[in-house]
Amino acid sequence: MSFGGIEAGGTHWNCAIGGAEGAELTRVETFPTTTPAETIGRATEFFAAEPGLEALGLGLFGPVDVRRDSPSWGTILSTPKPGWENVNVAGALADALEVPIALDTDVNAAAVGEWRHGGAQGLDTFVYLTVGTGIGGGVFANRLRVHGLLHPEVGHMLVPHDRTRDPFEGCCPFHGDCLEGLASGTAMRERWGRTGEELTDPAAWDLEAEYLALGLANLTMTLSVERIVLGGGVGRAPGLVEQVDERLRDALAGYVPAPEVVAPGLGPRSGLVGAISLARAAR
Ligand code: ZN
Repeated sequence: MSFGGIEAGGTHWNCAIGGAEGAELTRVETFPTTTPAETIGRATEFFAAEPGLEALGLGLFGPVDVRRDSPSWGTILSTPKPGWENVNVAGALADALEVPIALDTDVNAAAVGEWRHGGAQGLDTFVYLTVGTGIGGGVFANRLRVHGLLHPEVGHMLVPHDRTRDPFEGCCPFHGDCLEGLASGTAMRERWGRTGEELTDPAAWDLEAEYLALGLANLTMTLSVERIVLGGGVGRAPGLVEQVDERLRDALAGYVPAPEVVAPGLGPRSGLVGAISLARAAR
C-alpha cells in the first residue's frame, strides 16, 4: 500500500512516496516549477510509475482555493507567477491519476508533517513558518488546520517598518513592505545585493531576526501559539532560530509567556511527510 505526496512550491516541486504509516519516504524526486503543463506532467509521470497508489496529498503554493465544496477547488488564485493564475492543479492531477486527492496549502501540509512526526507532536495550537523565496505559514488551532475565507497567509501580515533604519521599500508585488516584502530571501537579496547564503554582515541578520520576531509576536498575541516551527531555506541559516527566539521574547516584553521557536523536527522533509499524511486520511 503506497501513498503519494507533493510539496508543490513556487520554485520547486518535490514528489515522494510513503507507506501506510511513519515518516519514511521511499522515492523522492525534485524538479523546478516551470509551466503548469510541464510541471504537472512531470508529477503525473512520477506517480503513474507507482503501482498500487492509494491516494495523493497535495501541498500547493497559494493563494489557492482549498474549499472542497467550491467549484474552483484546487485552483491557484492570484499569483505573480506567470502562467499559473486560475490553473486547476488538483483537478488536473485527479483526472490524470484517478486517485483521491487531499489538498491543502504547502505550508499547512508542512505543519501537518511537523504535527504528526516532527517538532509539533502533541500540540493544540502552533504555527509552522517557512522563510525562503517567500514567507508562508501553516496554522493549527485546537488541533485543526486553519482555513476560513481562504486560508491564512501569515507571510503577508503587516509589521512595523522603520524607514530610517531600513529604507528598503519592500519587495511584495501586492503590499510592498509586508513581512514577506521585508524579510523573505527575495527581500534580503534585493536589499543587500547578496543572497542569504552569501550574507555574513551581522547587521543584516539582526534586521532579519527582528522582522521575523515582530511577525511571530503578532501570531503569538493573536493565536496564543504554544510553539513556532521555523523552517525554509533562510530559516535554516545558522543561529537564526536562536536569534529569533531571543528577539521574540524581547518583542513580547514579558506580557505573555513566549512560545519556543524551534527548527523543524523533520528538517526539509516536513512538507512531503505532511502531504503523505494528508493522502492517508483521504483514502
Ligand atoms: Zn505581501
